[in-house]
Amino acid sequence: MSANTFPSYRGRMEYVCLGCGARFGIDELHYTCPTCGGVFLLTDTTFDTLKKTSGAQWRALFDARAASKNPALRGVFRFYELMAPVLEEDDILYLGEGNTPIVDSPPALRQELGLKTAYKNDGQNPSASFKDRGMACAFSFLKSLIRRKGWTDVLAICASTGDTSAAASLYASYLGGAVKSAVILPAGKVTPQQLAQPLGSGAVVLEVPGVFDDCMKVVEFLADNYRVALLNSKNAWRILGQESYAFEVAQWYDWNMDGLCVFVPIGNAGNITAIMGGFLKLHELGVIDALPRVFGVQSHHADPVYRYYAADAGSRQFQPVAVTPSVAQAAMIGNPVSFPRVKHFAERYEAIGGENAFQVVQVTEQQIMDSMIEANRHGHIACTQGGECLAGARRAKELGLVSAQETLVLDATAHHLKFIGFQDMYFENSFPAEFGVTPRPELANRPKLVITQAEKDALAAPDYVAKAAQNVVERLGLARK
Ligand SMILES: *Cc1c(COP(=O)(O)O)cnc(C)c1O
Ligand SMILES: [Zn+2]
Repeated sequence: MSANTFPSYRGRMEYVCLGCGARFGIDELHYTCPTCGGVFLLTDTTFDTLKKTSGAQWRALFDARAASKNPALRGVFRFYELMAPVLEEDDILYLGEGNTPIVDSPPALRQELGLKTAYKNDGQNPSASFKDRGMACAFSFLKSLIRRKGWTDVLAICASTGDTSAAASLYASYLGGAVKSAVILPAGKVTPQQLAQPLGSGAVVLEVPGVFDDCMKVVEFLADNYRVALLNSKNAWRILGQESYAFEVAQWYDWNMDGLCVFVPIGNAGNITAIMGGFLKLHELGVIDALPRVFGVQSHHADPVYRYYAADAGSRQFQPVAVTPSVAQAAMIGNPVSFPRVKHFAERYEAIGGENAFQVVQVTEQQIMDSMIEANRHGHIACTQGGECLAGARRAKELGLVSAQETLVLDATAHHLKFIGFQDMYFENSFPAEFGVTPRPELANRPKLVITQAEKDALAAPDYVAKAAQNVVERLGLARK
């Protein structure tokens, strides 16, 4: 089969409730189980037939598709058979998502850390965060539903102050047609930066007094009573699309998972569970013969998953936590929607990979900021959540959980520029006290004036240039050539 040929395999997918095991067909949009309120996974009931193809054959196919010129196979659907193999070629939206690069940390940073680190730059997705992986899948499925049902209108909606609304608005505006797009936000609590992407993509932005949870309740009410596609973490199609991260990491390392550790920030826990789920699928098909170790990272200001796993296995009980402000804003969640998914996948993961295969480490706000700045001073483009991963890698080393021989892939979940306000606060030493972040002076960076306006005005043009240049020379200690 040519790498451009759309696959002929079609699976049979169902929603499976992680609470009560109930199953539902995919000809409806479901978010939580109507029976028990649990969260769903999507499963392909004919997945076992894929095992007739050997691991080597899958590897060869996926590698061949890496050069595909078919847009439907260029993004996260390079791994079509493992993703949503109920979609037709024309259903698939491709906006350039997925296949983000993994960039090795330069020798200076590796030496400083005593660790072999690399960043997977998921900020290089179209809306500049990993959320695009999930949206590509969720909106492709929505397109297939619209086609099959002949819908003439459906509202794509989410409650989000950040990357979810940016990604959902982008894909909704691309799909257009029957799809209207709206975002519900807490009035007065959102920065112009967070509004910019949904507004720019033409979403109807609606504000509700209160906090994020109030918005979420409105959105869920709408989803229960109207023809609405909800694009928050409860959307299992989104989680499915995010499995592509794992497939890409495996392929990047030529399917050899020896000594590989993957660090992921945990907020609602959709991403880390999708990543574990993805590696498990590859393992089941023999595409990889070992699982990489997965490390979740949480800030001490929003650490319910860390706390759960820090307790003895016998006495673990999930408790939501009250969050305090965190620079890892996209992960600042006290009661993760996908916690049942974490338990489910962690158990399966540990059953195959051993008890160290999945672990959660906790880091401080200070460590997150220092690590983000340091990463970016070494040519990375990490957001605060990416900084959290580097802080997590350091913490794991401190705890003796990782060694210098292993390769640590850190998830830069968004582009550096998306959370730039925190960098400003670091450089200006203007963090509100509740963050508990004091900038390290040697990492602060501010523009410095080379020559004052008055000095400039007092000099003729050539003299002013020479004087300004002289000041640069002195400041930087330049030697003449
Ligand atoms: C959504 C998001 C997270 C948290 O991911 P979860 O799936 O909620 O755990 C982390 N970083 C960024 C940039 C995000 O947008
Ligand atoms: Zn249920």
